[in-house]
Amino acid sequence: MTSESTRKRWPPADEPKGVVCPKCGCAHLPVLNTRRSMGRIVRYRQCRHCGRRVTTYEVTPSKLADVTA
Ligand SMILES: [Zn+2]
Repeated sequence: MTSESTRKRWPPADEPKGVVCPKCGCAHLPVLNTRRSMGRIVRYRQCRHCGRRVTTYEVTPSKLADVTA
């Protein structure tokens, strides 16, 4: 259990992958607030490490179909 455990990333199933702090690269961005806007889910996050605020948008599957079609 060396590389296996150290390589383990932060994988909550309900969080989109790849969200990292643009300032420090920390992947711990707890959601402060969640809103729905125009079919999107808007999440306001704040970096646990440096306090940088990050906004992420999630598209619902139905809207995603519209976008890719
Ligand atoms: Zn940060």
